Amino acid sequence: MNQPNELKIYNSLSKEKEVFKPINAPHIGMYVCGPTVYNEVHLGNCRTFVSFDIVYRYLTHLGYKVRYVRNITDVGHLVGDVDSGAEDKISKRARLEKLEPMEIVQKYTNLFHRVMNKLNAIEPSIEPTATGHIVEQIEMVKAILANGYGYEVNGSVYFDMEKLLKERDEYGQLSGKKVEDLLVETRDDLKNQDEKRHPSDFAIWVKAAPSHIMRWPSPWSDGFPGWHLECSAMSTKYLGEQFDIHGGGMDLQFPHHENEVAQNIGACGCAPVKYWMHGNMLELEGRKMSKSTGHTIFPDELFSGDNNILSKGYSPMVLRFFMLQAHYRSTLNITDDALQAAEKGYLRMLEAYQTLQGLEHSGEENLTADDQQINKMLDLAYAGMNDDFNTALALGKLNVVIPKINSIKNGRLPMSNISKVTLDRMKKVFHDFIFDVFGLLDETQVGGQEEDHDLLDNVMQILIEMRQEARNNKDWAASDKLRDALQAAGVQIKDGKEGASWVKI
Ligand code: AMP
Ligand code: ZN
Repeated sequence: MNQPNELKIYNSLSKEKEVFKPINAPHIGMYVCGPTVYNEVHLGNCRTFVSFDIVYRYLTHLGYKVRYVRNITDVGHLVGDVDSGAEDKISKRARLEKLEPMEIVQKYTNLFHRVMNKLNAIEPSIEPTATGHIVEQIEMVKAILANGYGYEVNGSVYFDMEKLLKERDEYGQLSGKKVEDLLVETRDDLKNQDEKRHPSDFAIWVKAAPSHIMRWPSPWSDGFPGWHLECSAMSTKYLGEQFDIHGGGMDLQFPHHENEVAQNIGACGCAPVKYWMHGNMLELEGRKMSKSTGHTIFPDELFSGDNNILSKGYSPMVLRFFMLQAHYRSTLNITDDALQAAEKGYLRMLEAYQTLQGLEHSGEENLTADDQQINKMLDLAYAGMNDDFNTALALGKLNVVIPKINSIKNGRLPMSNISKVTLDRMKKVFHDFIFDVFGLLDETQVGGQEEDHDLLDNVMQILIEMRQEARNNKDWAASDKLRDALQAAGVQIKDGKEGASWVKI
C-alpha cells in the first residue's frame, strides 16, 4: 500500500467513521447504483458519479485491486405514484419520443458515457444492465420465495417485510427509520396496493398489464422485476453475497438501499454490504437538483454556457475541481461565483504544477522550517483523503504549498531552503493527487487538442449515422466505402453492442 495511514470511511450503517478493513485485501468489491437511462444525466447525478470515481481512484492509488461495478437501470423504475398509474420511466419516454424502449436506453446510455468521459471518470470494471440480468433476478425471487420471505398474488411477487422486521434487525439501519414508521411508510409505485399483505411490503416481481411493453416470462407471470431487485441480483453475481463498499446518492438510502438489504437477507441470509457510502445532493439555487422535477442544469448546458443561470460556460475540469472543493457528504450548491472561484483555483493549481515540474534542485540544502512545513502539508493532504475521502481537506493542504512553489519560482524562497528529497516528493505528490486521485486533466496544455477532439467526435457521429442509414437501407457498398475511406484517413469504426464508435488508428 502506498500510504501507511489508516483509511477511514463513514459507514451509513453505523453512522460512524470506521477504519477500512477490506473483506479480502488487496481485493475490493465496490458497487455503485448507476443512472436510470430515460433521459440525460443532470449535474447532480454527475456529482455522485464523480464522488465515487474519486473513491475508486484513491483506493486504486493506495494499491488495492478494485472491482468496480456500476449498473445501468434500464427497466423497472416506475413513474408516478400508486394512484397515478405505474408506467416504466423508460417506456414512458419511448412513448413520448416515439422510439423503442431499447432505443431510449441506448441513446441515454451513450450520452451518459460521453458526459462521464468529458468529466474524465474512469469506466467501471463491469457495467451490467437490469435487462441483461432478468434470469438472475428471477432466480433471486425464487430464492426469496423458497426462504419464506416473499409471497405471490395474481402473478406478482411481494417481499414480506413484516416477517423480516420481526426476525431481523438489519432493516431500517441505513435510513435510521423506526420499525413502526417503516410499517406505515414504505410504499412503491404500484397500483396493486391491495394485493400486499402489508403496506410496507414491496414488489420484487410485477405482473405486466397488457399495455406494458417491457415484459419477460417468469414462473409467476409475464412481467418485470421490481426496481430494487436488479442491484441485489447484480451485486451478488459480480461481487458475491458479501462485499466491501456500496455507494449511491443519499436519496437512495430509503427505500432503494434498505430494500436491497432486505432482498439479500431474504435470498442469501446475510446483509450484503460492509460499508455503505452515500453522497450528498448537488443543489441549484439552494434546492436539490432532480430529473423528475425538472430543477436541473444539464452538463452540456454548463459547459457551453447555454443556460439562464450562469454567466458563462465552465469547462468539465472546472466542474470537477468545483466538486472536489466539497466533501462528498456535504451538500454542494452550484452558483456562478463558486464556479468562477473553482476556475481560478483549478488554473492556479495547474500553473503551480507546471512550475514545480520545471524546478531543478540547486544541490545545496539546509534543513529549514519551509522544508518541514511542506512535508507536513503533503502528509495532511493524504490525511485528508484518509479521513473519509475528504477531497476538500486534501485540496486545501496542497493549496498551502502553492505559494511556496511560486516563491521558489520568483526567487523569494531560495531553493536551498528545500531539500532535494522534499522537492522530488512535492513533484510526485502533486502529480499523483492532481491526475491520479483527483482525476483532473490539464486543459491548459491540451485545451486545443480537446476542442479538436470534440469537433472530430461531432463530425464522426454524423458519419456514423450516415453509415448506419446506408446499412439500414442495405446499401452495403456505400457503408463499406465510408468505412474504408475513414480507415484510410486514420479512423476506424468499431461496431459494438452499444452501437458504433470510433478510434484513431
Ligand atoms: P437516478 O438516475 O435518478 O437513479 O440517479 C443516479 C444517481 O444520482 C443516484 O445515485 C442518485 O442518488 C444520484 N442523484 C440524483 N439526484 C442527485 C443530486 N441532486 N445530487 C447528487 N446526486 C444525485
Ligand atoms: Zn441500486
